Amino acid sequence: MNAPDSSTAPAHFIRTRIAREMAEGLHEQVVTRFPPEPNGYLHIGHAKSIVLNFAMAAEFDGYTNLRFDDTNPAREEQRFIDSIKTDVAWLGYRWKNECYASDYFEILYGYALHLIDRELAYVDEQDADTIRAQRGTLTEPGTESPRRNRPTAENRDLFERMRAGAFPDGAMVLRARIDMAAPNINLRDPVLYRIRREHHHRTGDDWCIYPSYDFAHGQSDAIEHITHSLCTLEFEDHRPLYDWLIENLPVPSRPVQIEFSRLNMDFTVMSKRRLTRLVEEGHVAGWDDPRMPTLAGLRRRGFTPDAIRAFCSEIGVTKSESIIPFGVLERNLRDDLNVRAPRRMAVLKPLKVVLTNFPEGETEWLEAANHPQNPEMGSRQVPLTREIFIEQDDFLEEAPRKFFRLKPGGEVRLRNAFIIRCDDVVKNDHGEVIELRCSFDETSRSGLPGADRKVKGTIHWVSAEHAVTAEVRLYDRLFDVPDPGGDKTADFVDHLNPQSLEILQNARVEPGLEHTRSHEFFQFERLGYFVPDPDFRPGRPVFNRAVTLRDTWARLEAQLASGRT
Ligand code: ATP
Ligand code: MG
Repeated sequence: MNAPDSSTAPAHFIRTRIAREMAEGLHEQVVTRFPPEPNGYLHIGHAKSIVLNFAMAAEFDGYTNLRFDDTNPAREEQRFIDSIKTDVAWLGYRWKNECYASDYFEILYGYALHLIDRELAYVDEQDADTIRAQRGTLTEPGTESPRRNRPTAENRDLFERMRAGAFPDGAMVLRARIDMAAPNINLRDPVLYRIRREHHHRTGDDWCIYPSYDFAHGQSDAIEHITHSLCTLEFEDHRPLYDWLIENLPVPSRPVQIEFSRLNMDFTVMSKRRLTRLVEEGHVAGWDDPRMPTLAGLRRRGFTPDAIRAFCSEIGVTKSESIIPFGVLERNLRDDLNVRAPRRMAVLKPLKVVLTNFPEGETEWLEAANHPQNPEMGSRQVPLTREIFIEQDDFLEEAPRKFFRLKPGGEVRLRNAFIIRCDDVVKNDHGEVIELRCSFDETSRSGLPGADRKVKGTIHWVSAEHAVTAEVRLYDRLFDVPDPGGDKTADFVDHLNPQSLEILQNARVEPGLEHTRSHEFFQFERLGYFVPDPDFRPGRPVFNRAVTLRDTWARLEAQLASGRT
C-alpha cells in the first residue's frame, strides 16, 4: 500500500503526458523506479523524486521499484542502503522490487560485447586526460582516437582480458563508437567501462571492471521494464546517448525518459557532496542532525511524512529551476501538527512567580483541554501551586505601551487558570529580576462572573513544584545566507549560521511529559511544536522544537524591535 497523496494533487506535465499515453493504450500499466546511488542519506530533494515516482505508478495502476544505482563501489556503503530503505518506507511507500544495478553486471557485460561485435565500441588505451582533451568543445568537434578503428576481434580479446584482470587499473577503457563530431558532447565516444580494483559492497571482488553510470542507468531501466524513467534536468543532455544505447542493444523494453527540475531550497545545501562534508568535518552531529535537509534529520527534528508529502504536492513538478523557501516546508508541517498535536504547557526560560494569595503547600488540579478546536482529544489535569514559572520573555519591567504580557502593576491571564496582577518585582544584588510577586483574581476563573473579563495577554506557565526539568533544543536555519552554495567567492561552510542550535538545559515541562513516547508530537502553547529527541531518557527528557508557531506576538515583537509601535 502506498501513501494516498496524489489524487487531489494538481496536474503537471508528467501526469498529463502519462494520462494521454495511457488513454492511447501505449502502456498497460506504469512502472517507475526510484534510483538512488547508495553514497549518502536521502534529502528533501530526493523526496520530491520519490513522491513523483510512486504517485505516478500508483495513479496508473502500476508499481515502483527501488533500484540502487551501485556502479561506483568507491563511495557506496551498506549503511547508506539501509538508511535509504528506512527513509522511503518512512515516507509511506512500498516498492515492488528491491533492485541493484550490480545485479545486472553480467547482462551489461554481455551488452558491451554486443556493441563490440557490431563495431559500436572499442578499447582505448589513452589516459583519461588525453581522452578528455580530445572531446572538443561546444563549438569544435572532437578528435578521433587512434584506436577507434581497431579490428573487432582485437577489441573483443582486449575487453575479455580487461574483465579477467590482465591489465592494471586505468590501463584502458571501453568506449562507445558513435560520433566525435556530434553536436552533443555526450555522444563523442563516451566511456562505457573502466578498470578499477575496488571492493564492491555486493559483488565483492568478482569484478575489476565497472560500467559507467551512463552505460548502466538506461539499460537497468530497460531490464526492469520501466515505462517512464523520471529524472532531473541535468540528464536531459544524456538522453540522446541513452536512446542510442537502447536503439543498438537487445534490451527487453524501451523506457521513455522524462526530465523535471530539481528541488532547491534556501538557507541549506542539497548536494550529497556538500552534505557529506558537513558530516565528515563535524559541522553537524551526523546525517540525522535535525538541522540537516536529510530525511533522517527532518524526521529527528519532528517532521512528519504527511507534511513532506503535502509539501512535495504543493511545489509541483515543472521544468523550470527555482528555489523554494524553507518556510514552505515548515508551513506544511505546522498545518499537519496543528490538527494532530495535543497542547501542553512548557516554559523554556523560567522566571519564578509567587502567587501571594494562593495557599501554601496546596495543589489545585485544573482541567485543561488538549486541543482548543477538537474536544475529541479530551482534557487533562494541570497542577497549580503557589509558586509557578512563567517565561522570562513574558515579563518586562519597562514595557512599551503595546506590551500585553506582564509588567509591574499590569495584569495578564494565566492559560487555563485566572488573571494575575504583578504587585512586586524581586531583584538580586546585580539588579536582575529573580522573582515576581503576584496576586490572582479569584472571580476570573472559568465559570465565575469574571471569567470573561478581558485582559490583553494570556501567558503559559507551569507549577514550580510539579514541573519536570527538561532539555529543549531550538533550531534555526543551518546557513545564514539564502544560497550558501552559490557564493563563488567563499567556501559554503563559511556561511554556517552560528546560531542554528540553541540548547536550553533548564526548561520546565508539564508533569506527564517525562513519559513521552518517540515520535509523539505536542504543541507547547505559544512556543511551537515539539517532539522527543532520540536522546530522551527516563529522568532526562529532551525535546526538539520541530517548528515555531505563527503566533500573534512574534509579529509584534518584530515591530517592537524595529521601533514601529
Ligand atoms: P546529489 O546531487 O544530491 O548527490 P544525486 O542526483 O546524485 O543527488 P542520486 O542518488 O543519484 O543523487 O538521486 C536519486 C534520484 O533522486 C535521482 O533520480 C535524482 O534525479 C533524484 N534527485 C536527487 N536530488 C534531487 C533534487 N534535489 N530534486 C529532485 N530530485 C532529486
Ligand atoms: Mg546521481
